[in-house]
Amino acid sequence: MLRKFQLDTPREGFINITSQVREAIAGIDSGICVIFCPHTTAAITINENADPDVTRDLTLGLNKAFPDRPEFKHSEGNSHAHLKSSCVGVSETLIIEQGHLVLGTWQSVYFCEFDGPRKRSFYVKAIKD
Ligand code: ZN
Repeated sequence: MLRKFQLDTPREGFINITSQVREAIAGIDSGICVIFCPHTTAAITINENADPDVTRDLTLGLNKAFPDRPEFKHSEGNSHAHLKSSCVGVSETLIIEQGHLVLGTWQSVYFCEFDGPRKRSFYVKAIKD
């Protein structure tokens, strides 16, 4: 089954979407699910949920690694956000076992905004085995 979710995002940052992914896989005992972001300046990742400084530091580190550069030609002026999207990636795949997502204790699924604020969406496709 396929579920589509909507988000209102901030200018940049990591939004925890684990509860929406859990909602999308409800009723599936065993299988896999793909979380997909259909945008070119956003991404999906899995990282720490315990200390909010981790996602703040990820944003800081990505901004240091991929600063806006005067050499960029893209007329929209957001090539740094396109770079971050390609490097972080627009999807993640998770295992579903005994009705639960297989995630580490400190892991959550995040929608990463690199060029907001915007109305965004993401998909969860779950497949039973
Ligand atoms: Zn662009």
